[in-house]
Amino acid sequence: MAGQSSLFPSSHHDHGRCIAAGLARAEKVCRGQQERLTDNRRQVLELLLAEHRLAGAYEILERFDWKGRKPAPAQIYRALAFLETMGLVHRIASRNAYVACSSQGEGHGTVLLVCEECGIVAEPSVDSLSRTVQELAAESDFELRAHVLEVMGRCPVCVEVTDA
Ligand SMILES: [Zn+2]
Ligand SMILES: [Zn+2]
Ligand SMILES: [Zn+2]
Repeated sequence: MAGQSSLFPSSHHDHGRCIAAGLARAEKVCRGQQERLTDNRRQVLELLLAEHRLAGAYEILERFDWKGRKPAPAQIYRALAFLETMGLVHRIASRNAYVACSSQGEGHGTVLLVCEECGIVAEPSVDSLSRTVQELAAESDFELRAHVLEVMGRCPVCVEVTDA
């Protein structure tokens, strides 16, 4: 049985609230940075917020509503790059995929637990680890741009299915 305190969302949680919170946060972050959450940016974010799973740029391109226009991969990449800069999505380099940010904590995006089977991603808030990395960088006069620790494994649901 999966632990009650699992970082992974339960299958029967109110996901509408996650989506609403994600979009509200995006509006706020963009306003704070004097940036606009354009239609493209918003739609890409919504596609990622639809699930707590990672998605590749190509998957997003296919689900994107082009409203009769010709699909333009460059627009998807630009929107993803923007959302990543704003901290609204995280790139999972080893999978060449993206996931909507699901945390508001300070150390967000530092550690991502990625299920290799279903692609679900959990984002624990780990301020202490984030601080450690920042200290290591500072000690080495290393100019830190970004750090994401991608932890691969199986989520509680996939563990249960396979081990049943
Ligand atoms: Zn949710
Ligand atoms: Zn995050
Ligand atoms: Zn899984």
